Order: sequence, then C-alpha cells, then structure tokens
Amino acid sequence: MCKTYPQRGQDRTYPIHKVVMDTLKTWHKITDIIKEEVSAANFRTWFSKTSLKEVKDKEVKISVPSTFIKEQLNSRYRELLLNASKKILGTEVEITFNIEPSKISTQEPLLQDGGVFFAEKTTPAILNPKYTLDNFVVGLSNNVAYAAAQAIIQNPGLSYNPLLVYGGTGVGKTHLMLGIGNAMLSNNPSLKVIYASSEKFTNDYVEAIQTRNMLKFRNRYRSSDLLLIDDIQFLSGREGTQEEFFHTFNELQSKNSQIILTSDRPPNEMAKLEARLQSRFQGGLMVDIQLPDFDTRVAILRAKCQERGEHLPEEVLHTIASALETNGRELEGRLMQLIQILKIQNQNITPETVSQLLGQPTLNSKLSADYRQVLAEICRYFNIKHSELTGPKRNKELVLPRHISMYILSEDLHLTVEKIGHVLGKRDHTTVLHGRDRIKKLINQDREVQRICIELKSKLAQPQ
Ligand code: ADP
Ligand code: MG
Repeated sequence: MCKTYPQRGQDRTYPIHKVVMDTLKTWHKITDIIKEEVSAANFRTWFSKTSLKEVKDKEVKISVPSTFIKEQLNSRYRELLLNASKKILGTEVEITFNIEPSKISTQEPLLQDGGVFFAEKTTPAILNPKYTLDNFVVGLSNNVAYAAAQAIIQNPGLSYNPLLVYGGTGVGKTHLMLGIGNAMLSNNPSLKVIYASSEKFTNDYVEAIQTRNMLKFRNRYRSSDLLLIDDIQFLSGREGTQEEFFHTFNELQSKNSQIILTSDRPPNEMAKLEARLQSRFQGGLMVDIQLPDFDTRVAILRAKCQERGEHLPEEVLHTIASALETNGRELEGRLMQLIQILKIQNQNITPETVSQLLGQPTLNSKLSADYRQVLAEICRYFNIKHSELTGPKRNKELVLPRHISMYILSEDLHLTVEKIGHVLGKRDHTTVLHGRDRIKKLINQDREVQRICIELKSKLAQPQ
C-alpha cells in the first residue's frame, strides 16, 4: 500500500493528478475502516468534512473544517485514526491536523437540530418554530425558569440580563431559549436575533481571525437585540473565545440587548471558565431545570402525542411516565419507539403491552457508541483525563467514573469483563465485576448515581 505512495524526494517526478488520486483513495480506505468502528451519525458529524491533505515523512496530515472538529477528532478518535492509517499505510504514523477555514460549512452538523439563524435588520429572523413557550410543559422542575422567560418577554434587556438556564441534557433548555426567541420575534418581527451554540460562536471567531474579518464578526454579534448562546460549557478552556465573548457580552449588556445562555452545569462548576465571565453570568439570573417529576412527565408525553397526532390512553401515559424517570428528550424518544414497535407488531397500545416492552432489555440497550466514545464522554462529563480514568489512582473522584464506565460498557455495549478490564488500564476482570455490580446496586438506591447514568446514556444515545 505504502509503496504506491510518493516517497520523499520523489514528489517532483510524481504526476500531480496521481498524487491527488492516491491521497483520495488512501483517505477512502482509512475512513472505510473508521466507518466500521463508529456510528453512522458520529461518522457524519466528525469525519464527513475531513480529507487527507498529505502524507509526508510518516506524518498523516488531515484537513478539518474547524478547531472544534480538530479537538474532537484529537480527543475521541486519535487512536482510531492512528490504527486505521497504520493499517492502510503499512507503517507507524503521526497524525496532525490542518484547519482549513474555507471548508467551514455555514451549517455545522451539530447544529442541524436547533439550527443557526442570523437575521439582518431587513429580513425577519427565523428560529426553529418547533420550539415555542406554548408547547413547553411547565411543572415543578422548570417553573422558575419559565417565569423568568415570561418576565424577559415582557421586559427584554431589563428584567434579567443575562438569563442563564442550566440543567442536565434533554431537560428543555434549548426549547425554552428558542421559545423566548420565538415569542419576542412574534412581538417584534424586525428584532435582530442570533442563535448559536458556543461551538458556532467559537468557529465564527476562529474563522474571523483566519480570514481577517474580525470587524464583520464583531458587527454581527454585537449588533444583535437578542443573543442566544447554547451550551456555553464548551467555552471552557478556550481563552481567546472567552475574551471575545466577554467583550461581546459587555457591549450588548450596555445597550440593554437581551442575552440568554444555556449550560449543562452552573458556572462555578465550569472548570477553566474565566472568573470575570463567571461573575458576569452571576450578575444576571441563573435558573436551573431539573428532571421532570411524574406529573410533568405525563404532561410532556401527552404534549408530544398531540404534536404527532397520536392518541394514547391516559393509563398508558402513566405507565410510561412511572417506568421512565428521565428527561424530556428521552421520554419523547422512548414514546415514539414504543408506538413504532407496537404498530409494527400490530398490537394495541395498552398499559400491558407497553410495560412488557419497557421491561425488554433490547429497548434499554440502544447505544450505538463504541467503547472509546463511552470513555471519552465519561471523561468529559466528570472533567477528568483518560489517563486518570484508566490509571492506578483510587480517589473517590476517579473511582465512581471508573465504575460507571464498567457498568455502561458491560450493560449497554455488552463488552466482556475481560475486554472492559483491558480498556480500563489492564484491570483484572474481578475488579470489573465488582465495579459494575456496585453501580447496578447504587442505581436503585442513590438518585444522584441514577441521574448521572441516565444523563450519560442519553448523551451517548444522541447522534453527536
Ligand atoms: P436540552 O437543551 O436541555 O438538552 P432540549 O430543549 O433540546 O433539551 O429538549 C429535548 C427534547 O425534549 C425536545 O424535543 C423538547 O421539546 C423536549 N422537552 C424537554 N422538556 C420539555 C418540556 N418541559 N416541555 C415540552 N417538551 C420538552
Ligand atoms: Mg440543548
């Protein structure tokens, strides 16, 4: 394989189109191996906009569209890239990344769900119309956040600025934020609204630097009447972006433009978030959204059925809500899954058929992630390094994530205990059994452990 590749010193005599063809083919072969290892959704998200720039002196240079994708490939898929490249090129290689801003797509795959919208003064902004305050179910878990939303709509820029909504995944943060945006737009269609995830903000900033378009970037973000930034936890550790965000923030605040932010944790738990940003966030209103209680879960299920024109008996909604103590996203996903399965099986939707299905292990084991993604997600969640997770230290902060890794790899990915021991730093299989069983027990006793596992699984079940 390697022989067909232009070697050093041969470049000048090598026909250029052949070099390009070889590069293309090599990248195809490498990514074919990767495709087998990762889910289709992950492949699309992380690899679809990459290409092989060149292979030189055992250095495999990969073109990527953004710093964010580079970081993700580096932290999640480095090992996979190294192995696949080694297999195809027949030699040990180094991986490097080359950011090519020209390849930055206007629509990052991560954002397709919520969408990214930027409105010029002349054209009305469009936020995803699926998310409104009318179809946001209010209950004990989110009524404070909802009240803040109403206050902002009545008095934008003046009541709570910024509003920071935080909470676990799938609890409705993005829904609420876009709901506020939609309500404000319907009051005033010429409002200049920007909605972006913090990755989008970061990518725009990096692109502005690289293409020397800083002025345009600043004008754009700093002239908005309503700025919605989703998932600001991803700003952690990005110093340049934080600095820029800080200034954007100050300017908007001084003009009383409304800022709304979401995060998966409170700012004081965001490691590597500049103190001055933390204090800015704390200067506004911070509200959390909890996992929905039983009544709210029933109401969410009812609302989702209505949206899709499905009519399910109340007892069925109750059965589902009591079996699934989880967030809105997972409730919705499982509800649709149940309806689909029962339709395929030509069965009536009754509390009995539903509870039978809810008890089936196949419904629970729906993770398409591979073990590397699971470990990477767990490290990210607990903010620890892979080397700490797999290393010898036994402090409490590391043992819980390690045991949860054992549990998820065993229960959801069905890896053997030997394999789990191996990927977690060559641990003995009895250690793995102990860790897995401890979490199995804790899940029924400790709500915090239960919440962590549900959140992790729901993060892993989402296309990323
Ligand atoms: P987050 O941003 O907190 O991860 P989302 O806002 O994306 O969560 O919500 C995930 C899904 O769950 C969406 O389809 C949303 O409509 C639904 N959902 C969550 N909470 C509620 C709620 N209280 N009312 C209606 N739908 C909800
Ligand atoms: Mg969200």
